Amino acid sequence: MNTVKCWFLQVFPCGQESGLPGWCTKYTKVEKWQKKGGTERMTDLLEKYREFGISEAVYRFGEAILESLRERFRQIDDTAEYNQLKVIRSMQRANVSEACLLGTTGYGYNDLGRDTLEAVYADVFRTEDALVRPQITCGTHALALALSSNLRPGDELLSPVGKPYDTLEEVIGIRPSRGSLAEYGVSYRQVDLLPDGSFDYEGIRAAIHDKTRLVTIQRSKGYQTRPTLSVKRIGELISFVKKIKPDVLVMVDNCYGEFVETTEPSEVGADMVVGSLIKNPGGGLAPIGGYIAGKKECVENAACRLTSPGLAKEVGASLGVLPAFYQGLFLAPTVTASALKGAIFAANIYEKLGFAVVPDGTESRHDIIQAVTFGSPEGVTAFCEGIQAAAPVDSFVKPEPWDMPGYDSKVIMAAGAFVSGSSIELSADGPIAPPYAVYFQGGLTFPHAKFGILKSLQNLIDCGVCSIL
Ligand SMILES: *Cc1c(COP(=O)(O)O)cnc(C)c1O
Repeated sequence: MNTVKCWFLQVFPCGQESGLPGWCTKYTKVEKWQKKGGTERMTDLLEKYREFGISEAVYRFGEAILESLRERFRQIDDTAEYNQLKVIRSMQRANVSEACLLGTTGYGYNDLGRDTLEAVYADVFRTEDALVRPQITCGTHALALALSSNLRPGDELLSPVGKPYDTLEEVIGIRPSRGSLAEYGVSYRQVDLLPDGSFDYEGIRAAIHDKTRLVTIQRSKGYQTRPTLSVKRIGELISFVKKIKPDVLVMVDNCYGEFVETTEPSEVGADMVVGSLIKNPGGGLAPIGGYIAGKKECVENAACRLTSPGLAKEVGASLGVLPAFYQGLFLAPTVTASALKGAIFAANIYEKLGFAVVPDGTESRHDIIQAVTFGSPEGVTAFCEGIQAAAPVDSFVKPEPWDMPGYDSKVIMAAGAFVSGSSIELSADGPIAPPYAVYFQGGLTFPHAKFGILKSLQNLIDCGVCSIL
């Protein structure tokens, strides 16, 4: 038995005291006899957070919010458990063996590990085939590959969900660019979502005609404020489009969406799902890579474009990356769950403090991105500095806004990642322009995501951007 000090957080229904709508807190210091156990453990944790400059008030604020999120976190754990079993089942069905972890060099003929991994991906995504390669350099490359290999001159590409991800503008030729689809005679049409975020079915019907060959649907909102699409909504859209034109191909940009739900868009009619291995499915371990899972013919087209007509999937050495690809996929369901919990924790923290957050604290989630609008450049900078200061790598670096290619304002980025640029690792970025929002994602473990968010909050308080009492 020993004496420990502990603080109880009291939550009042009013809201006057704290100035926050419907919410207020008061900290009561009490001294209490405690058995060695719960409270002492918390005191140890608090001491650990203090080493990082996190105050007791910030820590307690976080704890109170976490307490309210228990049920949601339990649901996320259930999804992760389901997806963990799904991945293991696929690995077992494909007979993954120790020999699969060895790589090949040179041409990479008969690369057992590569071919088996592609069978695992096809099984996880319930598709006929898959292309999973370190030679696919990033998500944009995977998407460009899927599009350029499945479209021919004279075809038209349609996006029925508004403007696609920034980097695809140059791939498609929305912004004129060397080597774009437009240069090869592929035209593009776009139907925006309606103001309430719903599909403009009439507009989509009118936009589909005999040249329409491929429909691209982006699951994640990316850096826009539209809602992220659930697999169910994607399925409804695909049914609608295929009813109008049964032979049209549907590709889903699945970036940031993998393993957030128990089903994937390929299970609701998508002919291809495409993504990056330095996001969810790489589980934080894949050092590079992208995937295209889908109909045999679509994947074959992509392989012929990635390597060469005639060579297709037969070449492409896996070098030494296969253990990271396999183990990363194995970890991906729980890593995605950690990132999701971090996003929800951040949403609830900043919502309670009165900042606009998308998605909001209670909305259902279909990707791992969280937007928080701070309304001032200081807010964006302070948040990113906090995330950086919580990183395992490059924590001593102070991020600075810079003129990033492709953006018309300065952008600040926080990332202290083991894999450069990996956004399944805890990371944040924000353009220094109105409305001064940051986009936050990732976290290989929930304790790290939690720490990063508390550190960002502490930094915002220390910089005078907000206060919690
Ligand atoms: C990240 C992302 C991309 C592009 O991936 P990169 O690996 O950054 O090239 C495309 N679409 C969406 C929705 C993304 O989130």
